[in-house]
Amino acid sequence: VGVGGHVLHGGYGMSSRTHGLALDWVESLTVVLANASVVDCSANVRPSLFFAMLGAGSSFGITTEFRFRTYEAPEVVTWFSAALPWDGETAVEGLEELEVFTRYRMSPELNMRIMASANGSSLDGVFYGDRAGLDNALGPLLERVNGSIATAGTTGWIGGLEHFSESPMGLTVPKPYDKVSIISISSRRRADAAAARRILRQEPNADGTEWHIRREFCGLLVQRRVQRRSYMVVPIRPARRGTRRRLGGG
Ligand SMILES: Cc1cc2nc3c(=O)[nH]c(=O)nc-3n(C[C@H](O)[C@H](O)[C@H](O)COP(=O)(O)OP(=O)(O)OC[C@H]3O[C@@H](n4cnc5c(N)ncnc54)[C@H](O)[C@@H]3O)c2cc1C
Repeated sequence: VGVGGHVLHGGYGMSSRTHGLALDWVESLTVVLANASVVDCSANVRPSLFFAMLGAGSSFGITTEFRFRTYEAPEVVTWFSAALPWDGETAVEGLEELEVFTRYRMSPELNMRIMASANGSSLDGVFYGDRAGLDNALGPLLERVNGSIATAGTTGWIGGLEHFSESPMGLTVPKPYDKVSIISISSRRRADAAAARRILRQEPNADGTEWHIRREFCGLLVQRRVQRRSYMVVPIRPARRGTRRRLGGG
């Protein structure tokens, strides 16, 4: 993806638990406004425009320059993939354990996401530190959700990026993987649990695609920030009733 849409509308990734969203690191922008004027904005210069650009940039102007703050890259990172032998029943309990872990116990050095489907479920992520640190940070959760680390590797910062880009650094074109998404809303807990059960039990669709659950565990601060920022961007369109019904939701 390009830096423009990604940064102007949030931008989470494999460092978001540790370092927040991409928009948190923008120092200042140069923007072309609708009246064709070219202006700079930052926390001190045109702060209202700066606030609006970071979250709803595409509605307010065209950014021609981004200036970022940077952080020191850690010398050692450990990427991992942990297998979760879940079925339709244990998945719901597991997802709830993950929710509590992320809220109250997750180390700030631990960044991860879950992919869960009828074909298998895994937690994938990166720990800013060595393997012993990863075991310490993730072990208590894995015990509770009956999971285990399937593969892991300790490397440098660039090695970690290469691992998640699934190729040596360079431009790759990913194949499309999401056709239809439903964003779960916390007030719909029971419907979400029903949908999770159904997804973990289903057969693949006729065209070979399958439903899966994907969730990034960025922590409460990022979650609040996304909620605060994203109300301006787009209203979340509810999934069609038929789609929800297929998944067992209300
Ligand atoms: C395969 C894939 C994986 C993804 N993974 C992640 C992920 O891990 N984390 C995450 O946060 N998001 C992820 N996304 C979402 C991605 O960040 C957004 O789709 C983002 O909008 C892409 O930015 P773009 O500039 O390439 O998109 P575009 O489609 O070019 O732009 C998106 C919107 O931003 C506007 N825009 C773009 N550039 C500018 C600019 N310079 N000034 C003003 N407006 C501009 C466009 O007008 C448009 O409205 C993923 C998307 C895909 C397709």
